[in-house]
Amino acid sequence: MADVVLKDVRKSFGSIDVIKGLNLEANHGEFVVFVGPSGCGKSTLLRMICGLESISSGNLFIGGTDMSDVEACDRGTAMVFQSYALYPHMTVAENMSFGLRMAKVPKNEIEARVNKAADILQIRHLLDRKPKAMSGGQRQRVAIGRAIVREPKVFLFDEPLSNLDAELRVQMRVELSKLHHEIGATMIYVTHDQVEAMTMADRIVVLRDGLVEQIGSPLNLYSAPNNRFVAGFIGSPQ
Ligand code: ADP
Ligand code: MG
Repeated sequence: MADVVLKDVRKSFGSIDVIKGLNLEANHGEFVVFVGPSGCGKSTLLRMICGLESISSGNLFIGGTDMSDVEACDRGTAMVFQSYALYPHMTVAENMSFGLRMAKVPKNEIEARVNKAADILQIRHLLDRKPKAMSGGQRQRVAIGRAIVREPKVFLFDEPLSNLDAELRVQMRVELSKLHHEIGATMIYVTHDQVEAMTMADRIVVLRDGLVEQIGSPLNLYSAPNNRFVAGFIGSPQ
């Protein structure tokens, strides 16, 4: 079975239907990018996959296990937020190791994982610093490092580069693609940036108002968009 499987997943908040029947299979090692305008349900979708939000109906499988009715638990996912969500009073090393300490991973194992992730992200020299003394780009590296050390089956990224300036975004885009090749984990990545989607994705899912407009490779969506909305979003000639 694929690493992440969604079968007719729906989500409502009260009488508002936010996700209106979503089907997707993200295969092991695949880089799937969700694009769509603000408010179309991208963050809600990631929050359901990682268990921060329940699903209203349908089925959600992670690593072959049905998580549809399972409360928050370690389901082998790790999320990276746009706002970094670092603990300000902790050092970089403490931020990265916090989840592992909670999970009672042995100390030497924690140290090894933190150092390895810090090397990958080139933040070894920052391990003793606190987040407030760092740039946005450095903070986002720490947030990504905190996900890497947990060695998740599935990485979830919620617009991770949106708060960075243009130059840094390009650099981080390249680094995230490199990271994906090195780690080989499944990645589900949400953005409203076409360039990010086109350059990073194995497959792009175009969302509109809680529904999938089209799923396909970047080339496929660019050359054969189903409609004007997809064409407009992907940037193909109309
Ligand atoms: P996106 O990430 O694509 O911008 P969201 O998933 O954050 O969209 O939100 C989709 C819709 O769901 C929005 O209309 C938002 O107001 C609504 N929504 C999200 N979370 C909640 C919540 N906890 N309660 C009520 N409405 C919510
Ligand atoms: Mg969002």
